[in-house]
Amino acid sequence: MPTTAADGRTFFDEVIAATPGDPHLDRCLQCGTCGGSCPSGPDMDHTPRALIGMIRAGMRDQALRSNTPWFCVSCYYCMVRCPQDIHVTDIMYTLKRMSVKSKLYDDSTAPDFSKTFINWVENYGRAFELGLMSQHLLRHNPFGVFKIANMGVGMVTKGRISFTPKRIKGIDGLQAILAKAKELEAQYEV
Ligand code: SF4
Ligand code: SF4
Repeated sequence: MPTTAADGRTFFDEVIAATPGDPHLDRCLQCGTCGGSCPSGPDMDHTPRALIGMIRAGMRDQALRSNTPWFCVSCYYCMVRCPQDIHVTDIMYTLKRMSVKSKLYDDSTAPDFSKTFINWVENYGRAFELGLMSQHLLRHNPFGVFKIANMGVGMVTKGRISFTPKRIKGIDGLQAILAKAKELEAQYEV
């Protein structure tokens, strides 16, 4: 049963309005090239093709509860191969934002990982892998810290990751850019 937003817009309209630029969502042929190209397909509740079909069918709750956007690794392979130039990856980001806002995605792990990652980038200008992993595991799977401890120590000693976070030069400039991006994002709020 198609559902509409509180203001009467269809789900399709909501997704279009919340996605920067024109994602060309109305052009989808349901050819399945995107799903066939996706490295995360086996772990997804719905293929990218199916998810786009659900958006067009107005299946708001089902689409926003799907784990598909959270398993998207932003490789852009689907976008490169789509014969209709549909911005599939951008739509995945839109669905992530909408599912967090609507609280329809009931596994907090993936949204929380994204927030932790963004916090490091906002404060240091780059990700800090050791901090990201340990913060996330302590919050969601404390015993997992012991499982990855050896690997973490090995990577630090081999210089693959650093032991302490390092702030980039020009962090003030980056933070100003991020603040502006948030301001622009608010214009696409749904
Ligand atoms: S590849 Fe493009 S046209 Fe084909 S199903 Fe995916 S989004 Fe639709
Ligand atoms: S960008 Fe996301 S949806 Fe597209 S192929 Fe890569 S992982 Fe799959």
